[in-house]
Amino acid sequence: MTLPGLRHIGSGKVRELYAVGDDLLLLVATDRISAYDWVLDSPIPDKGKILTQLSLWWFEQLADLVPNHVVTADVDEFPAELRPHKDELRGRAMLCRRLEMVPVECVARGYLTGSGLADYRRTGAVCGVELPPGLTDGSRLPEPIFTPATKAEIGRHDENISYEAVVATVGEETAAKLRDLTLRIYRRAHDIARERGLILADTKFEFGRDATGRLVLGDEVLTPDSSRYWPADAWEPGRPQPSFDKQFVRDWLTSPESGWDRRSGEAPPPLPEDVVARTRAKYVEAYERLTGRPFVA
Ligand code: ATP
Ligand code: MG
Repeated sequence: MTLPGLRHIGSGKVRELYAVGDDLLLLVATDRISAYDWVLDSPIPDKGKILTQLSLWWFEQLADLVPNHVVTADVDEFPAELRPHKDELRGRAMLCRRLEMVPVECVARGYLTGSGLADYRRTGAVCGVELPPGLTDGSRLPEPIFTPATKAEIGRHDENISYEAVVATVGEETAAKLRDLTLRIYRRAHDIARERGLILADTKFEFGRDATGRLVLGDEVLTPDSSRYWPADAWEPGRPQPSFDKQFVRDWLTSPESGWDRRSGEAPPPLPEDVVARTRAKYVEAYERLTGRPFVA
């Protein structure tokens, strides 16, 4: 979906970006879903709206900790050039201040899994942060850690880097601010999620500088696409935790039923209707459990 008449400046796996005037950016979340590094052919209805609404809710919860880039998500307040697209944008678009993005993915981890676990198994550390021996997949860390990564080009994986590498890229002062903000936001979000029965295992933030040079939280925040949420009552270190949002998709894709071989290099087949419906229900559930509000499409 690219909108005619607007200045399209980029497509991510899930989002479309448009420049609005000189200073603004429109971030539009589509219903696309990715799994195993493929963008699937089957959209998940309303996913883009759910994730946009969840991001907005989180920005509000964090407003006293960190400024954010949101100008408005109310389509009736959008500038005139966006009005012809109001119906398509409603609920799924955020008008943001355009920031000079810091070229570091700011990841916080409170639990060990994914690339963090792989690094730990190889070196006993993640991004140079030494961890105690004996940790396993899903272990809670003694305290949350900052595990930055490079921003990879489309189609490539982000690469974990050391804190020293961040210092080399952005300088000591900015690196220290990024680490401090990332961990403070993670702790706040973790506690909020935990009260609602969810574990926020890890998450990624992107920061940028506004016109005054201030560090501002950008991108999407604390969505299931940028974060790992686990149901707290099923948490059991020593095995991969069920993914809150994409488990049905992954289970089906790797089952004999799908007929898909992950190593074949071929695109996955379209998802059956019930897998789509159950996945949509998980996104809605995440939104409703976290915010305590019903999701209204
Ligand atoms: P993917 O998330 O699919 O791996 P991606 O991160 O390149 O790929 P998107 O997340 O769809 O793609 O696009 C968002 C892009 O917009 C990112 O490059 C992000 O750094 C950038 N961005 C987010 N907020 C702002 C902002 N306020 N100003 C400028 N750029 C922003
Ligand atoms: Mg992104």
